[in-house]
Amino acid sequence: TVGLVWFRRDLRTQDHAALHHALRQCAQVHCVFVFDREILDPLERTDRRVEFIRECLVALDQDVRALSGHDSAGLIVRHGVASEELPALAHALGAHAVFTHHDDEPQALARDARVRTALALQGKAFHTFKDHTIFERNELLTQSGGPYTVFTPYKNAWLRKVDAARLAPWPVEPFAAALAPRPDWACTHVPSLAALGFAPAGLATLPLPTGSRGAQQLFDDFLQRIDRYDSARDFPAIKGPSYLSTHLRFGTISIRTLARTAHALTTVGNTGAATWLSELIWRDFYFQVLANYPQVVERSFRPAYDAIVWESGPAAEALFAAWCEGRTGYPLVDAAMAQINQTGYMHNRLRMVVASFLTKDLGLDWRWGERYFAQKLNDYDLAANNGGWQWASSSGCDAQPYFRIFNPVTQSQKFDPEGKFIRRYLPQLAGLPTAALHAPWLARPLELQAAGITLGEHYPRPIVDHEQARQRTLLRYAVVKAER
Ligand code: FAD
Repeated sequence: TVGLVWFRRDLRTQDHAALHHALRQCAQVHCVFVFDREILDPLERTDRRVEFIRECLVALDQDVRALSGHDSAGLIVRHGVASEELPALAHALGAHAVFTHHDDEPQALARDARVRTALALQGKAFHTFKDHTIFERNELLTQSGGPYTVFTPYKNAWLRKVDAARLAPWPVEPFAAALAPRPDWACTHVPSLAALGFAPAGLATLPLPTGSRGAQQLFDDFLQRIDRYDSARDFPAIKGPSYLSTHLRFGTISIRTLARTAHALTTVGNTGAATWLSELIWRDFYFQVLANYPQVVERSFRPAYDAIVWESGPAAEALFAAWCEGRTGYPLVDAAMAQINQTGYMHNRLRMVVASFLTKDLGLDWRWGERYFAQKLNDYDLAANNGGWQWASSSGCDAQPYFRIFNPVTQSQKFDPEGKFIRRYLPQLAGLPTAALHAPWLARPLELQAAGITLGEHYPRPIVDHEQARQRTLLRYAVVKAER
């Protein structure tokens, strides 16, 4: 039999569930990636993620060839509508079945349903496997049989149920002889960015190595400092987190590899690893929220929160533009927005700060911020991004209470105490003494003068007064009080 492995957000050859199963079941296996027009066409023409994927495919193609031991194997790359390309390719290759991984985003589910139907009409099978998480869908349920909606009991259940088998890799090498030569007519090279209709996005200037080797490099580097993760992770000026999120998004490293390592270190008392493992569990948690409550894509997880009346109209749009462009007058918020705009990454603490600022200082709908992050983040992931935004806006699963409102100045003093992060991203403020850096409008005139700053000219005055905004937010959220 002939099998076709459809790579999507799993761009690696090691520990790959779909590849493992295909190689074991089929005498000949082909590998394909489709640049899906339905995903690519709406994007801006400069997009770091497209460049990242392309680089990862070049590496994946080499890895498939190396694995097969002959140069005639390799990745088939198509550019078209996936739900049409896949059945057509399966037909042309004479494949009996397509193998791929579960993807519970609503649009992916709809696409996969179309592919399954088209393949079934040809008498072909569509096999899908869990790969992106350790537990998924309804694998962990509460005692009453429903999905978890609170993180701590979910995490406890996760830790109770996890075992060596769940964390074990899906081996590929022992079965690699089944990798088939690519037919001559199949596209034998990864298309250039220009051929895909995109301009270079400057990926090489970022500290984001690509492909499985890039992921491993980041992971090796992180393992040198994982024991300090719990104390370092909240300070954006420090190299505290792993920076693996984009690799997890595109599956250049397996979640089992990461969770297995973190779990083993946790069991020998490494508290940094235990905290990091918790973050990986948050990731599983949000995946299962999306799978079980797909309505969160459009609506608040807690229905009462959809009664909130957000700011709207031209004044609200102007506030939103200032937030997007980092012109709010709050240095930590503006530096964070500069980070996402310049690099496509934003530190987790800052994601919480800017999301709180958008919803609770500017009174804007969390969906506006969610969409902006979706455009900009290299690691954009619907489940985690929606979960993060609904957490910050208090409308989500196990979210922060609505009356907890981050103060952007005290957050700045606490988490960027020396102002290193702010100075890195807002060099125009670098000359201010650190105490004044967190709230330049409170600086003494002499301090501003010595730093060469005129407020309103070199740096904006605050676009809202935090204390007044806080009061407005408490009133705005009063409509949900009854829900508590
Ligand atoms: P590390 O601290 O090293 O964490 C390791 C991994 O754990 C991450 O790579 C990620 O896969 C996972 N993780 C960590 N924190 C969370 C979390 N709170 N929720 C879910 N998974 C988590 N993460 C994304 O991967 N994609 C997103 O689109 C995304 N949007 C977010 C939006 C908001 C408003 C907020 C508050 C958080 C968002 N996060 C998102 C979660 C988190 O900020 C990032 O995963 C993290 O900053 C990535 O950096 P890292 O890989 O260095 O993280």
